Amino acid sequence: MKASSSGATSSDEYSRYLQDRIKQLEETNTHLKERLESTEREGRYYEDMRTRYESEIRKLRSELEKLRAPPLIIGTVVEIIDEKQMVVRSSTGPRFVVNYSHFIDSQEVFPGAQVGLNQQSLAVVSVLSSAKDPSVYGMEVIESPDAEYEMIGGLAEQIEEITEIVELPLTEPERFARIGVVPPKGVLLVGEPGTGKTMLAKAVANRTSATFIRVVGSELVQKYIGEGARMVRELFELAKEKSPSILFIDEIDAIAARRIEDGTSGEREVQRTMMQLLAEVDGFDQRGDVRIIGATNRPDILDPALLRPGRFDRIIEVPVPDERGRKDILKIHTAAMKLKEDVNLDILAKLIERATGADIKAISIEAGMFAARNNKNAIGMEEFERAIKKVKKSKQWDYLTEKESGVMFA
Ligand code: ATP
Repeated sequence: MKASSSGATSSDEYSRYLQDRIKQLEETNTHLKERLESTEREGRYYEDMRTRYESEIRKLRSELEKLRAPPLIIGTVVEIIDEKQMVVRSSTGPRFVVNYSHFIDSQEVFPGAQVGLNQQSLAVVSVLSSAKDPSVYGMEVIESPDAEYEMIGGLAEQIEEITEIVELPLTEPERFARIGVVPPKGVLLVGEPGTGKTMLAKAVANRTSATFIRVVGSELVQKYIGEGARMVRELFELAKEKSPSILFIDEIDAIAARRIEDGTSGEREVQRTMMQLLAEVDGFDQRGDVRIIGATNRPDILDPALLRPGRFDRIIEVPVPDERGRKDILKIHTAAMKLKEDVNLDILAKLIERATGADIKAISIEAGMFAARNNKNAIGMEEFERAIKKVKKSKQWDYLTEKESGVMFA
């Protein structure tokens, strides 16, 4: 009995032991499974990281190669011989027959297109974006400029003239056709900087729903042979594409100054650019819907060829405003401002003799800034006085002292 009870006990113990062991092993198994899963997760994570780093390395390597690659020479396509070869002119002048990559889209290459050439073989490697892209040469293209005649002060006569010369031929061409008169092609606005020449041109564009294209003459002066002339050609093409359009060439004197034979290649290049400008103006249909407006503050140095009939033969002088003009401009620029009762625009107009429209705009803004800085509710004469002093400091013009002008600030 004893023996059997002890036997039963030991088998119970053994079975408990086995159960415990099974449980233990199951726990170990679960634990191992969890670890395996987490290791697998980690593995996947590191695999992802590796792929990411590899792609970053590839990107950096290719960037490094790009930086190490020798620069391309800029050239212009002269003629396409066949599917393999073309004639290009390099920026230094000579022409070459070169090969071109078959990766180059044949639609993109045409005589006059700009291309990148390999330094050694001069093979065409890439086609550069068209310079007609306005941003390339800092042109300003505005589909509908927001300037209006009412925003221009003191230039009533000039507005009338420009309406006749530029606006009417665009809006009512039949008026001219009926009587057999050919409207002038180009008009030249002559006046000091900041007198409102650009504004006038923009206002005409707005009135005629024409696209306003502005380019600064100095931007057309390029270092490389033929470059400036090509830009002029493309500028006129752009104007035709965007027609009806107003092509405004600011600082036209930069490319149209009287010829001085100094024999330098830079001088010759400026001449070439001007010749192209004259050729474009001459080849222009006067009855077309593109009008050219030039602007300069140095009419004395202009080449007379530019002013010949059929070119920029109409000159509109845009003067520095007189007292009445100054008051008008002050009125325009302070129209939206809150002014104190003491502000007398007549007195201010007297005080700012020789100020241009741009100066008056700057004075109005400065006066507003002073008032805002001092947390005032409205702008008073005191702020205008400080603004005039501040703007005057940065300008050539001088304003009359209180004594000279015979007026006193309130
Ligand atoms: P630049 O020769 O330097 O190009 P500009 O004669 O073309 O000068 P604008 O650019 O037209 O001068 O003028 C600059 C700013 O001055 C304009 O945006 C306008 O706010 C102001 N301004 C100039 N003249 C007048 C004016 N007559 N009436 C109202 N505002 C004017």
